Amino acid sequence: MQFHFDGFKVGDPDIAPPTAAGLARAGAHALPAICDVLIVGCGPAGLTLAAQLAAFPDIHAVIVDQRPGPLQVGQADGLMCRTLEMMQAFGIREKIEREAYGINEVAFWKPDPATPRRITRQGRIDDVADDLSECPHVILNQARVQDRYLELMANSANRMVPHYGRRFVSFVRGPESDSHPVTVTVETTRADGTTATETIKTRYLVGCDGARSGVRQAMGRVLRGDSANQAWGVMDILAVTSFPDVRVKCLIQSADEGSIVLIPREGGFMFRVYVELDKLNKDERVASRNLTIEQLIAAAQRIFHPYTLDVREVAWWSVYEIGQRLSDKFDDVDADGALPRVFIAGDACHTHSPKAGQGMNVSMQDTFNLGWKLAAVLRGQSPPHLLDTYSAERQAIAKGLIDFDREWASMLATPVKSADNPNGIEPAEVQRYFIKQGEYTAGTSTHYKAGLLTGPATHQALAKGLIVGKRFHSAPVVRLADALPMQLGWSAKADGRWRLYLFADPTVAGKLSPRMAALSAYLDSAGSPVRRALRPDQDRDAVIDVRAVFQDYHRDLSIDAMPPLLVPSKGRHGLTDYEKVFTSDKRGPASIDIFDKRAIDRRQGCIVVVRPDQYVAHILPLDAHADLAAFFAPILQAV
Ligand code: FAD
Repeated sequence: MQFHFDGFKVGDPDIAPPTAAGLARAGAHALPAICDVLIVGCGPAGLTLAAQLAAFPDIHAVIVDQRPGPLQVGQADGLMCRTLEMMQAFGIREKIEREAYGINEVAFWKPDPATPRRITRQGRIDDVADDLSECPHVILNQARVQDRYLELMANSANRMVPHYGRRFVSFVRGPESDSHPVTVTVETTRADGTTATETIKTRYLVGCDGARSGVRQAMGRVLRGDSANQAWGVMDILAVTSFPDVRVKCLIQSADEGSIVLIPREGGFMFRVYVELDKLNKDERVASRNLTIEQLIAAAQRIFHPYTLDVREVAWWSVYEIGQRLSDKFDDVDADGALPRVFIAGDACHTHSPKAGQGMNVSMQDTFNLGWKLAAVLRGQSPPHLLDTYSAERQAIAKGLIDFDREWASMLATPVKSADNPNGIEPAEVQRYFIKQGEYTAGTSTHYKAGLLTGPATHQALAKGLIVGKRFHSAPVVRLADALPMQLGWSAKADGRWRLYLFADPTVAGKLSPRMAALSAYLDSAGSPVRRALRPDQDRDAVIDVRAVFQDYHRDLSIDAMPPLLVPSKGRHGLTDYEKVFTSDKRGPASIDIFDKRAIDRRQGCIVVVRPDQYVAHILPLDAHADLAAFFAPILQAV
């Protein structure tokens, strides 16, 4: 990590020096009268957004939740590879990974053909295919994931802390001439149990308030799709069992007793068991069945037969119904040309079954998409219509994920094929489908269509392994100045900056090629996109962060051959940033060379444009200066 560039500071570099406004607000019980962004809901969606906005000391974001305090137990637990890639950018991946259970393999169990009442192992496969991501798929209690975000917020310059015990009631949107056009009414519960009403005016309101979202309802939007008629039981248990795969993620299909998804949990002892319960009748709520934990355990024991399951402690359990449902839009704009001011994210706009582990992950990715856009608009770096892309991009992704989830959930709910049930499903088919859909379950399937933020794939051939519209797929490199082997993608932080990765064509006698030299000079010139949205007081990489990757062995290239663009002077002392230049990793087998791994054209090189949320926005030739400027022209505005 980089620190001291703005002067020497003692203490923990993860704790930012507080702003005066941040200190004044910290610990205040009352809601402020105005803010830039009001977030409703401290779930994964709301906290990802809050943590993202907390990275900008000049943005005043406020987050409220109706709960009395932070979540302690339960709810979702799966963190996909893609989510950990994002968490790396937030600086919390290591802590999450250390505490989490890492999923390495998945076991499939089916009825024993000789004695169908008994289950038997069908097979085991790798959970994540090789090189799908540099990050693992892990399991950690949602509450602990949320704690990491709360920590990030509290350590930010604004010392951001949620306002708990606040229930969103309604909002009114005023005229655009009002600097804070959205007025929100919130109900507060006092210590003595009485309630009071507060209002807060905000530039933007984001409803991250879960499946029964009040913000969504106040916007007049509805969730459409399958009614929630599938009952699920879930329990986190400490138990003694003779089932041998208890520390492996398992999909277990019994002949007549239903199916189980078993998820080992963090800490080495606990595991989660999802038990599929009965289909509910139309409009029936699961609560009306009065299901008990004893019934849940008994159902699990029947499916596990002949293995024993002796439950010693139940840490958390829940019975809930869930359907695959989606809102047609994720903002408050119906008419063309109007500006969005209110957004919904996470379960507020899409719900999934728990079987594919999408809920928490997709919710966080929604607000990772929205956060940098809000920041860019609030800071005057981008025009307000940038915000239109949030609903357009995320609604399409949610729809695709829901279609996948529906198919996967129905596959797991289908009884196993047998003599009595010839229309059932072959367990091997379930296993094949799981392998085929690996990108969905790793969270790396998201592919944004060409539009304002995603260029056409005209030059895709220059880097066939970095797909335009998909997330930047990291690979190993060596940092030139200090010979550090590292993941290139990990150099990017969740700081709202765009990135240009310049994959260099061959150097000439240890010097930049003419095309690389010309590109560096162009990017450092006054009219280039790098300079366009910069305020005079900002470092030259504050809006677009340029990094270069050379094909040379790192000992054959010297940092003093680099132009000022790649070793810029920064901060109040004008110190040199030495961390922007990399070479391919030639210390080991050729397969870890990034040019090979991501099929980058060695002769021509290329520019890879990456959005602040890590998606590849464009690929261009090294001399396509005008095309680069044209791409950024509608996105970045002169300040
Ligand atoms: P949520 O996590 O639901 O967060 C919404 C937040 O908004 C909550 O903190 C809530 O208190 C707050 N809120 C709601 N209304 C208001 C209001 N009017 N004013 C102020 N605050 C408000 N997924 C799985 O994959 N596996 C599981 O086992 C699983 N179990 C679940 C059990 C339960 C009881 C629930 C509710 C969800 C479960 N989920 C599970 C779903 C998963 O937790 C969600 O997909 C994920 O949390 C979505 O994140 P979110 O931030 O969009 O919403």
